[in-house]
Amino acid sequence: MLYLAESKKIIVVGIPGVGKTTLINKIVEIIKDRNKSVNVTNFGTIMFEVAKENGLKNRDELRKLPISEQKKLQKIAAEKLSEIDDDVIIIDTHAFIKTPEGFNPGLPYYVLQIIEPTLFISITAKTEEIYNRRMKDGTRNRDKVSIATIKKELDIQSAMMSACSVLSGSPLKPVLNTEGKLEETAIQIIEAIGL
Ligand code: ATP
Ligand code: AMP
Ligand code: MG
Repeated sequence: MLYLAESKKIIVVGIPGVGKTTLINKIVEIIKDRNKSVNVTNFGTIMFEVAKENGLKNRDELRKLPISEQKKLQKIAAEKLSEIDDDVIIIDTHAFIKTPEGFNPGLPYYVLQIIEPTLFISITAKTEEIYNRRMKDGTRNRDKVSIATIKKELDIQSAMMSACSVLSGSPLKPVLNTEGKLEETAIQIIEAIGL
């Protein structure tokens, strides 16, 4: 039987400061040494590029916009992403966004239907490590919350990702991003993707 080659769309999620972007950069570095490449796209960057046209100044202000506005930007980002036809696309995003209204899904059903993900990688880390990463990283304006709140966020991430996996029928791979083990963690993801 003949199978047409389709893009592999790998969705990488994790709560703020868990290390998604750092890990993805490491993956790109490792596979470049193997003379391979992938398309890496940050969902929030696409949303921010559109929101900037309407005066938004900082990517960390996106989650404070009215939910209706965030939803519009989310849909535009998903549509732009669906136009990419590289062999492997890694999408850096979130299982949910913490908003004043509550936990807003990062991958609601209409977004999953547009993107048609192949695999979900759910990044976690020890709560204390995430707490310290958020406190130390001066490049971003992350919400500073207690360790107990970070634990709750990890529970919500797990619940949201179970729903995504069931709705889309695609596998879910949880990966622990241990402090100081960036390379080992990146290799685990490379193997899960089959790069
Ligand atoms: P956001 O969702 O807010 O974009 P993120 O998940 O992309 O967050 P990063 O910006 O990649 O998080 O990482 C947050 C901080 O944690 C950075 O300062 C990064 O250097 C550090 N970090 C990430 N992974 C590790 C690791 N395995 N060991 C030590 N430090 C790490
Ligand atoms: P990041 O750099 O990954 O934290 O992305 C910046 C911001 O983009 C996040 O804080 C969110 O406000 C927004 N964002 C990223 N992914 C999504 C998504 N799937 N749905 C809604 N908003 C998102
Ligand atoms: Mg990031």
